[in-house]
Amino acid sequence: MDPAQLAAQDAVVDLDADLATCPACLGEIEKGNGRCPGCGLRLF
Ligand SMILES: [Zn+2]
Repeated sequence: MDPAQLAAQDAVVDLDADLATCPACLGEIEKGNGRCPGCGLRLF
């Protein structure tokens, strides 16, 4: 498989993930929650 196809697969996996990374504390945020449990940053 060529590198372009591998990169496309990674992008699909990221879009399907249920967790996002908080830009402030780098903690995990559930997309359904919308607020970081670690620092309280509201993302969604
Ligand atoms: Zn945070």
